[in-house]
Amino acid sequence: MSARTKLTAAHPGQLATAAVRALSPYVPGKPISELQREYGISDVIKLASNENPYGPSPLAIAAIRAAIADAWLYPDGSAHELKRALGAHLAVPVECLTLGNGSNELLLMLAETFLDAQHSAVCSQYGFAIYPLVIRATGATCLEAPAHAPGTPMPYGHDPEAMLRAIRADTRLVFIANPNNPTGTWVGHEALEAFIEAVPAHALVVLDEAYLEFAELSGVPSGLPWLADHPNLVVLRTFSKGYGLAGLRIGYAVSHPEVADAMNRYRPAFNVGNLAQAAAIAALQDPGHVQDAARRIVAERARVATALRGLGLACVPSAGNFLMVDCGAEAAPVYEQLLRGGVIVRPIGGYGLPRHLRISIGLPEHNDRLLKLLAKLVPAAPAASPA
Ligand SMILES: *Cc1c(COP(=O)(O)O)cnc(C)c1O
Repeated sequence: MSARTKLTAAHPGQLATAAVRALSPYVPGKPISELQREYGISDVIKLASNENPYGPSPLAIAAIRAAIADAWLYPDGSAHELKRALGAHLAVPVECLTLGNGSNELLLMLAETFLDAQHSAVCSQYGFAIYPLVIRATGATCLEAPAHAPGTPMPYGHDPEAMLRAIRADTRLVFIANPNNPTGTWVGHEALEAFIEAVPAHALVVLDEAYLEFAELSGVPSGLPWLADHPNLVVLRTFSKGYGLAGLRIGYAVSHPEVADAMNRYRPAFNVGNLAQAAAIAALQDPGHVQDAARRIVAERARVATALRGLGLACVPSAGNFLMVDCGAEAAPVYEQLLRGGVIVRPIGGYGLPRHLRISIGLPEHNDRLLKLLAKLVPAAPAASPA
């Protein structure tokens, strides 16, 4: 063994590809158990990962229970029954569907399928942090388009024109979340359609609709109907948010069949477990449950935004189940004080937004607890302007 080989063996992390070594890992919201452990607090609520506090449909819970007995069997790798149910639900052929272990895995699959070191992909400043991660892991170049400036009607939001300008001849993927996380901002239907129209055929538009169920109630409809005319459109959906199934990890892509076929070549053979498949099939049979939860959350979002404004804390417009709040100063101390009060929110300094916090909308009593803590923390806040 040469000295050089020995050195590398002592630092096996250096064997990772240069692209992976350069990545900064995704920082998720603090888990409830971690705060309990670290601070010795028992009564903790989490408003940090945009989970749906109403949880899944009782039909989904019953289906999960029933599926447990089959846990020793590999799941149906082709998810025949779920794809049939989804195809009917969306009115699309099953050949257009790809299932993922959460839509996060679909983002990975898209990057691995369409990018290598010769390519680039476009995303937006303040866009979902997973996009640059999956792009860079492949060795491809991540082109970040500037977002709308603060003080504009959609501050920190995607600027479709800037994204179009960022596209190069070697661009294969363009990531757009509507609405976006962590900002909550959205691109209006007409502007989005014009954008998809204008993206050249050599680039796929990945339209991430993780918050669709809340967005629809906020007047932000799905781009799915455009699929028929745009073979380079990929719509991503998830059961994690509106459907309240974040823990089971299941999402799907709707695309041209050739895009689905390409992704399925790389897809891990049994990437969606049998509990997740059973839960999703059952959840699709109870749209009322999802709509009811989404309606409550959207109403609470308006109430919380108004109360925050009353405390002198401005919120960015949101079509999701969360609010991005401007603390007016460094947000870290506010985050820390909320933790001490047993409320976990999400700092987003990693996004280049050190003054903001992202706060998920919880049950009314959770939101009340957050607002009470904040009222104590920001006593010096200027009174809300009457306007
Ligand atoms: C939460 C979220 C997802 C969904 O992630 P899953 O892996 O399906 O749980 C995807 N995109 C955005 C923008 C999100 O906020």
